[in-house]
Amino acid sequence: MHAMRFPAEPFRIKVVEPLRSVSREERERLIVEAGLNIFAVPADSIYVDLLTDSGTSAMSDDQWAGLMLGDESYAGSRNFFHLVETIHDIFGYRHVIPTHQGRMAENLLFSTVLKPGDVVPNNIHFDTTRANVEHQGAEAVDLVIDEGLDPAVLHPFKGNLDPAKLDRLLGETGQGRVPLVMLTVTNNSGGGQPVSLANVRAVREVCDRHRVPLFFDACRFAENCWFIKEREPGYGNKSVTEIARELFSYGDGCTMSAKKDGLVNIGGFLALNNAEWAERVTNLLILVEGFPTYGGLAGRDLEAMARGLREVLNEDYLAFRVGQVAELGEMLDRAGVPIVKPVGGHAVYIDARRLLPHIPQSQFPGQALVVALYREFGIRSVEVGSLMFGHREPKTGEMVYPKLELVRLAVPRRVYTTEHMRFVAESVIQLQRRSDRLRGLKLTYEAPVLRHFTARLEEMAPGESAPGSAGPRAADVATPR
Ligand SMILES: *Cc1c(COP(=O)(O)O)cnc(C)c1O
Repeated sequence: MHAMRFPAEPFRIKVVEPLRSVSREERERLIVEAGLNIFAVPADSIYVDLLTDSGTSAMSDDQWAGLMLGDESYAGSRNFFHLVETIHDIFGYRHVIPTHQGRMAENLLFSTVLKPGDVVPNNIHFDTTRANVEHQGAEAVDLVIDEGLDPAVLHPFKGNLDPAKLDRLLGETGQGRVPLVMLTVTNNSGGGQPVSLANVRAVREVCDRHRVPLFFDACRFAENCWFIKEREPGYGNKSVTEIARELFSYGDGCTMSAKKDGLVNIGGFLALNNAEWAERVTNLLILVEGFPTYGGLAGRDLEAMARGLREVLNEDYLAFRVGQVAELGEMLDRAGVPIVKPVGGHAVYIDARRLLPHIPQSQFPGQALVVALYREFGIRSVEVGSLMFGHREPKTGEMVYPKLELVRLAVPRRVYTTEHMRFVAESVIQLQRRSDRLRGLKLTYEAPVLRHFTARLEEMAPGESAPGSAGPRAADVATPR
């Protein structure tokens, strides 16, 4: 199986989910009805759905069998004990609090340990993590290494947190105002880039000196540990499970969305060593989620999660998983499609500004590419650029656009074959050849916050200039975060 540079699927297919064939005319009608917003297109009208890798995994026969063994007792379900045993073995933290997904673990932790004016450092906070920190009146600070912010720089561990920046922040911030440091593995908002064990040790050392606990945002821990095995000197002969145990041994707890590396469609947990924090979190859990032995889940969900956490560490699986994403990236790169490099663990990011240089950021080149990929080929991707992050500066009223204008192709786990990935690559390459025919877009509706979810847009008429697009091009003014 490993004779190929990118391993073939280490599974065969037992159940199939038919994909409906949708004509170009129907897709054209649907995307126009959706106001050129891909979130509003019905999922059963999509051929390859690369919107997200979260909660979209295919479960194994063993996980499905586990669902039948769900013990739906209100208290003390056997599946809870299985989950605890699994988490003790891999993560090693004493107290396990199941939640319905990752953001609830974040919410419970932060509403227990943060107070207004506190500061939480991280390599880069994921959106929900930042929102949950800020919801407590605390400040979320991103301290990723400088290489992690440059899409063109090649570095094996672009998710690393800069220990010197952390040391400075902890030294400058008042005593007791940093209740914990977070480290996101892999760094989702930085393109799914991994963190090295050497970096984790360095971060731990700084935390120890300032007596601050270290927590992991562990959503893609298995993919991160696979990169460590592949790239970090001294770890090539260690198993990914051993690497995971070492990684988590440097921390005091973690939050987890099992919708990623738990290989389930719903589920998450908070695990930690601090008994006093665990007790306070548990009291809150009972108020907002459920009894401590099921959190926000059914017994069968706990079982699927326990089994998924073991399966995700299978090295044939990980070689295929990370390899499939890398292969998609390589197919695009070889054809000259501009992508962010190196390719991360769960997604390939296309640089839409370089692919569509004739469309200014005020006309949403990323979204124009998203719309064309759906209309022409039935592929769903997501814009991470001027539609998602562009905003009006409150003081000057001037539009500010993010530095990066990306389109993300997130690959669900075990769902699509590499033939699907080839279809995606060839579609993007075909679009690139006639990219000059793609036109910019203009907004016809936008909500005051998180506008990308509900925005409505129209294609610009040939020769039309965007409303408000006169004046200086604000493209390089700032990155909002
Ligand atoms: C998805 C994700 C979360 C939030 O998890 P949900 O299950 O979506 O609530 C937190 N952190 C990271 C890094 C994530 O990718």
